[in-house]
Amino acid sequence: MISSKTFTFNAFGENTYVISSGKEALIVDPGCYEADEIEILNTYIANQGLIPRLLINTHCHVDHVLGNYAVKEKYKIPLLIHADEEKVLRSVKVYAPSYGFVQYQETEPDGWITEGQEIKFGDDGCTVLFLPGHAPGHIALYFETQKKLFAGDVLFRESIGRTDLPGGNHEVLLKSIREKIFNLPDDVEVFPGHGLPTTVGHEKIHNPFCGSNSVVAWS
Ligand SMILES: [Zn+2]
Repeated sequence: MISSKTFTFNAFGENTYVISSGKEALIVDPGCYEADEIEILNTYIANQGLIPRLLINTHCHVDHVLGNYAVKEKYKIPLLIHADEEKVLRSVKVYAPSYGFVQYQETEPDGWITEGQEIKFGDDGCTVLFLPGHAPGHIALYFETQKKLFAGDVLFRESIGRTDLPGGNHEVLLKSIREKIFNLPDDVEVFPGHGLPTTVGHEKIHNPFCGSNSVVAWS
């Protein structure tokens, strides 16, 4: 049985997730930047008695990686990303100051994760889905038994990820959503990188970009 805790951090309102199975935890997309945000994350982990095992970025846009350094320093855990995000991660230090994140500290990835890979922790595990389009090496974490998808910035509640940033591609994004996410059961909960959770079934109907009621033609 997993449980997850959502924190919303930084000026982009980014969702950071701590997913736990028993006392073992994954930290996904730590967006904590200010000292008080880092403290909030660490206090939760300490109060729950959690032992973080892995740090995973769904993709490496600035708002999703701001806390990587603090998390790695504190818990000494490996950072895993898709290999196609390495360039995206390395570019953050170049543009972070222009968004006001002058204290951003770069972190090295420690390993790659790929489509279909199983990630085990505690008594549970999830499967990596490769969902490019918003970013070239974007992944999501699918907990099949628990019917939960931690989806980053691919699919939001009645919206989708932007595709105007480097490595973005609108058609590729729609393909990722329709061919991968919409193939999951309707009652799978989707936990996005911004905003409230949704479900696959809700988005299949109501998403204005790719749902069956959408005004955008399916192709
Ligand atoms: Zn993003």
